[in-house]
Amino acid sequence: MSFADRLAQERRARLAAELLLAQKQKELTAANAKLARQAQDLSVRIIEQRQVTEVAQSQADALKGQNSRVLGDLQRANDVAVLAERRLWDSIEAISDGFAIFDDGGALVTANAAYARGFGLGGLAPGMSFAEILGRAVERDLFELGGEAGEDWCRAMAARWASNPIEPVTLRLTDGRYLKLVEQRTRDGDMASLLLDITDMMRIWAAIEAIPDGFVLFDRADTLVMCNDRYKQIYPDSAQVMEPGASFESILRFGLDRGQYTDAVGREEEWLAERLAQHRNPQGLVEQHLGDGRWLRILERETPDGGRVGLRVDISELKQQQAELDGARIEAESANRAKSAFLANMSHEIRTPMNGVVGMAELLCDTALDDEQRLYAETIKSSGEALLAIINDVLDYSKIEADKMVLHPEPFDLERCVHEIAMLMQPSVQSKAIDMFVDFDIFLPTRFVGDPGRLRQVLTNLIGNAVKFTAEGHVLVRIVGFEAEDGNWDLRLTVEDTGIGIAPENLDHVFGEFNQVEDQTNRKFEGTGLGLAITRRLVEMMGGSIWVDSEQGKGSCFGFQVSLPAAEDTDARPSDPITLRRALVVDDQIINRVILERQLTTYGLEVVLCRSGAEALAALNAQEFDVVLTDHEMPEMNGLQLAGALHRQHPALPVLLLTSNPAAVRDEGEPLDLSGIMQKPVLRSDLFRRLRDLSNPAAGEPVAKAAPRPEAPPAGLRKMRVLAAEDNRTNQLVFSKMVKDFDIEISFAGNGREAVEAFRNWRPDLIFMDISMPEMDGREATREIRRIEEAGAASAVPIIALTAHAMEGDREDILSAGLNDYLTKPLKKSIIAERILAHAPPDACTPCAASEAAA
Ligand code: ATP
Ligand code: MG
Repeated sequence: MSFADRLAQERRARLAAELLLAQKQKELTAANAKLARQAQDLSVRIIEQRQVTEVAQSQADALKGQNSRVLGDLQRANDVAVLAERRLWDSIEAISDGFAIFDDGGALVTANAAYARGFGLGGLAPGMSFAEILGRAVERDLFELGGEAGEDWCRAMAARWASNPIEPVTLRLTDGRYLKLVEQRTRDGDMASLLLDITDMMRIWAAIEAIPDGFVLFDRADTLVMCNDRYKQIYPDSAQVMEPGASFESILRFGLDRGQYTDAVGREEEWLAERLAQHRNPQGLVEQHLGDGRWLRILERETPDGGRVGLRVDISELKQQQAELDGARIEAESANRAKSAFLANMSHEIRTPMNGVVGMAELLCDTALDDEQRLYAETIKSSGEALLAIINDVLDYSKIEADKMVLHPEPFDLERCVHEIAMLMQPSVQSKAIDMFVDFDIFLPTRFVGDPGRLRQVLTNLIGNAVKFTAEGHVLVRIVGFEAEDGNWDLRLTVEDTGIGIAPENLDHVFGEFNQVEDQTNRKFEGTGLGLAITRRLVEMMGGSIWVDSEQGKGSCFGFQVSLPAAEDTDARPSDPITLRRALVVDDQIINRVILERQLTTYGLEVVLCRSGAEALAALNAQEFDVVLTDHEMPEMNGLQLAGALHRQHPALPVLLLTSNPAAVRDEGEPLDLSGIMQKPVLRSDLFRRLRDLSNPAAGEPVAKAAPRPEAPPAGLRKMRVLAAEDNRTNQLVFSKMVKDFDIEISFAGNGREAVEAFRNWRPDLIFMDISMPEMDGREATREIRRIEEAGAASAVPIIALTAHAMEGDREDILSAGLNDYLTKPLKKSIIAERILAHAPPDACTPCAASEAAA
């Protein structure tokens, strides 16, 4: 090989190498470019990749956060659930009732302690069966099985679970408690079992069963909640529908349909409506008569929740007793009426002959008698009058008892009434060493509307007792009062004495009938012991009340209260004023001084009080007075002696002498140095009149003025004709003797028919008409006479009834028959005389003999 060849070869090789290099360079450049491109792509992608990674990273972070939150929630939820379950079980454990869950296979899932205790067990293991639990309890002899074998009982108890729903059962424990077992299947097939302690409820129920009355409870919708067996026994016909849930109305209807309610027969719907209304608005007592004759008392009340609780009490026995009592009462009342009628008739029978006794004795006293005969005659008269007083008391009492006593209110002067009684008592007062005072409240009116007769009776009794039971000291009658809101005057009248008094243990009895205090100190006193009983009844009839305060040996104070309207003052006060300024009052008795002072100061006088004549004379030497009022009976210097002394020193000074016995003063020879004698106790109006007369001497009347003598009858006048209708011969005789001194013509009729006859033929000026007469009685005769008068247009003849029949009702009865007036027997001469004088006709001569004018 040549060089050239070699060189060519080398050049070719170099060229090839250069070519290759160039190629390689090209390739490299391309590759570079590609690489550069790729590198760029890659970097783009890397950036993108990085971005994606970042997003993914952040998403992963977020997810992770979320995850942990969910996990936290789950944890918490789990905690709550655990807590709730624990709480539930704690609560179930805490309740006193037993609670257990058995699974659908009958195995115990869980039970609270109370459930275990209920069966007498310390605890219960899950998995135990109900029968097993019962068996354990039976082993411990926990339940009263009622004689049943333990196994049978357990089986029967367990078998209950097969039924649906399961009937609750009450278990009675040997220690006296009661449990109630209530079971129910749950939706999952488990068995929930409750064990309730109902001992308290059973006790209440047992108590309700034990009460002897029917008990029932309805709810606010009026459906029966419960009732005891007694209730069902009471209503046997409707007992079968008395189940809880039954409505009251349906129970009533059921009983109604069977005629259970006697008082509903024939008016069922009406009865039902009434009964339902009563039930809805229970008030008061309702009585029910049942078909079997029994009587019930129904008591119903609303319960706080709007229900009704009721009791039914069997009052059949009570009703029977009541009927017996009613019968007895009616019998007693009729016996009482018979007694009153008997008393009234007896009093009539007794009064008629008494009329003869008292009347004849009175007439006998008027004849010439020697001293012994006079004593006998007067004794007959006073004994007869005493007997009549007793008959009157008995009669009054029987009248009140028979409800026949009627009050006759009319206007009257209470002060005058009290003074008149005080005056009537003077003879007894003067025969003893006592003083009687009347203190009539100066602020009281004197005229009231009331029954003066009955008030007088009450006061006479109280004052009479005070005088009777007082040997020395005083009797003070005090009348005070105030005007009440109703316009009536509330009056309190008290009678105070310083007598024997009443022992505390007898105070309550004195107002009873025939209740006289029986002991040595007062056995000597007369009386029937009816006075206060009548007094109390009269005061009560007047709507008032009576009381007594007393201390034995010291005295008594009887008082009563009545409420009376004041009457119009009829005797209007004279207009002449009292001009006297200063008065001197002399009395050794402080009560009198005080009473007089109060009376005088109301008339505007200034008053100075002195206890004795000597004090008065001293006072008169020091001061000027317009009038002196002095008591008569005073120690050392009496009123008359004082008046004499005064007259010598102050001849012009008027002196009024106050005495309880004016007649005795006059008998001593009336001294001219007196301006007047006043009867004690002093009547306010009397005092007023005296003071007024002294203020205005011209109007004054002489102290004593002779009664005008009746004028001699002018000649030619006829005599007054008096007809007396009286069947009783003795009474005819008494009557004729009583009027024998009168200058009248008297004629007698033996009965009503004769009286009518005599009226027709003789035309009397006045008729005295006995009421009970044979053939025609006094009422009938009077009616007949009035008919005759009407027919003949004659003027009405005055007819005065004479009756011994003093029962109330007679008066109205008698007057309604046309009689004008009414006198009760025994007749009094003075009263007959007064009536004859009052009815003397103008064309007749004065009927009275001069000696009778004063009568
Ligand atoms: P009658 O009033 O019927 O004639 P009486 O005065 O005995 O009889 P009451 O007026 O009812 O009967 O009085 C009953 C009794 O009360 C009296 O017997 C007397 O024991 C007692 N008594 C009544 N008033 C007084 C009194 N002022 N002081 C003491 N005892 C009195
Ligand atoms: Mg008496």
